[in-house]
Amino acid sequence: MSSILRPRLLAGFGVLLALMAALSALGLSLMRDLSDRAVGLSENNIPELVNTTHAEADLEAMRQLQLRHLLETRISEKDRIESEIGDLRVEVTEHLRERLRITPADEPDEVRTAQAVMAEWNRYVRLAAPSSIQSRSGAQEQALATLSGPAQDSFDTLREALGEMHDEEVAEAAAVGGAARASFAEARRNFLASVSAVIVGAALLGLWFLVVRPLRRSSSSESFRRRFQEALEMADTEDEALEVTGRALASSARRMPVELLLADSSQAHLYRAVVAGPDPAGPGCTVDAPRACAAVRRGHTTTFPSSEDVGACPRLRDRPSGACSAVCTPVAILGRTIGVLHAIGPEGRPPTAEQRDLLETTGAQVGSRLGVIRAMSQSELQASTDPLTGLLNRRSLEDRVRGLCRTRTPFVVAMVDLDHFKALNDSFGHETGDRALRVFSRALAETVRAEDVVARYGGEEFVIVFPRCSVREAADVLERVRERLRAALSAAEVPEFTCSAGVAEAGPDEQFHDVLRAADEALLAAKRSGRDRMLIASSIRS
Ligand code: GH3
Ligand code: MG
Ligand code: MG
Repeated sequence: MSSILRPRLLAGFGVLLALMAALSALGLSLMRDLSDRAVGLSENNIPELVNTTHAEADLEAMRQLQLRHLLETRISEKDRIESEIGDLRVEVTEHLRERLRITPADEPDEVRTAQAVMAEWNRYVRLAAPSSIQSRSGAQEQALATLSGPAQDSFDTLREALGEMHDEEVAEAAAVGGAARASFAEARRNFLASVSAVIVGAALLGLWFLVVRPLRRSSSSESFRRRFQEALEMADTEDEALEVTGRALASSARRMPVELLLADSSQAHLYRAVVAGPDPAGPGCTVDAPRACAAVRRGHTTTFPSSEDVGACPRLRDRPSGACSAVCTPVAILGRTIGVLHAIGPEGRPPTAEQRDLLETTGAQVGSRLGVIRAMSQSELQASTDPLTGLLNRRSLEDRVRGLCRTRTPFVVAMVDLDHFKALNDSFGHETGDRALRVFSRALAETVRAEDVVARYGGEEFVIVFPRCSVREAADVLERVRERLRAALSAAEVPEFTCSAGVAEAGPDEQFHDVLRAADEALLAAKRSGRDRMLIASSIRS
């Protein structure tokens, strides 16, 4: 993983953990509240709860009942007193009438006095009436205050008994409170355990997604890059490098159809160099020239989420497999973009960032290896060939012949020299001489077999080695060379010239230089005998 990405991931992970801790604290508080509501208790409200238990309510109800009882007793006493007062009034009235000898029509002050007494009594009764107990508690208290004797004693006894009951209720409520507290504590423990499990789970998930997974991905992509690099380094030719690329893409791209399109030697056309994925036909891009590819023109990886988008590459449309998404990575060789790695996916779901990285890595590595191979083969070609004619040079010739000797392959050697070439140079100039050398070289190369070795041995001298060939067959080839030269000279604007040749066959265990010397002697003999001819060494020796 890059050194920039790692601190960012760790910071993100820290923030996530802090967020989870804050959320957990909030959840715990909410949970505590919910628990309080569900149980109906908290440590703070137990005394309050105890005070409002039904013991207190029962006590009040009993008190009310006692009041009611006392007041009813009082009412019957009132009735008795009222009747006594009635009697007394009659008695007083009679007494007054007798004393004052007056008629009821003009009753004096005594009557008014009696009426005032009655009014006062009625007011008291009305205040203490049972129907008004609830609303006139002050009057009740006043009435109770007037009680004395056994009634008051019995009320006190009752109050005491109710007090005991009250204590029992309080103790019971405290026990309920204790049980509730214990159950709340257990609920809190369970909740904390659940929250801890969730936090640990979330932390592990975060660790997996933010640290482990990216690290694993990074290490697997790094491992892929390293293995691919090693495999490519073992590839000495373009074909081998492309074959390695195909295998790497097949193992890494898996279900993703992918292909590598490369420019041919003309750089004008693209050909399908590698195909990987489930479909042997590959993604089937129809782009036929590097400059026609959008990714090559842009010079960077380009993703197309849907072939149906307005901005999608036109080459993605109307494919037999239907609508698709795609990612295209340009491939550069020796700094020049001459290919593209093209992969497709389902429409709307383009290859992932990981797959894109993989394509970019693959494209960069294969491009770099192909560049090295081309540069190497170019320099090898330069080192092994003659720059004027393109034929092998003397060193390469000797290497090839050494290979033939190692495998004990029989061969025939021909040495060819252009006739009076100095005169041609002198007459027509060095450039015309060069052109003449190229015309002859082409005639040679186009006439011999693929396995024959043709080299410019020096100046206007050439050596041809014919493996597994008889002297006669070699002589026939040289005759055809001379004919082709004649035909070529008439077509090309080069003054006419001829060549002479000597041919020699290598005997068993004969050294190359000995055979070459024999061919050279045959050549000299051909020169001496008038040029423009070919002689076989064996015919000279004999
Ligand atoms: P002969 O028939 O006896 O072989 O005569 P000749 O003139 O071909 O042989 P000579 O060895 O006298 O001259 C060889 C000439 O080939 C001399 C040289 O100018 C010419 N020559 C050698 N290499 C090159 C080359 O690379 N380009 C050109 N234009 N001429 C070359
Ligand atoms: Mg010569
Ligand atoms: Mg010559």
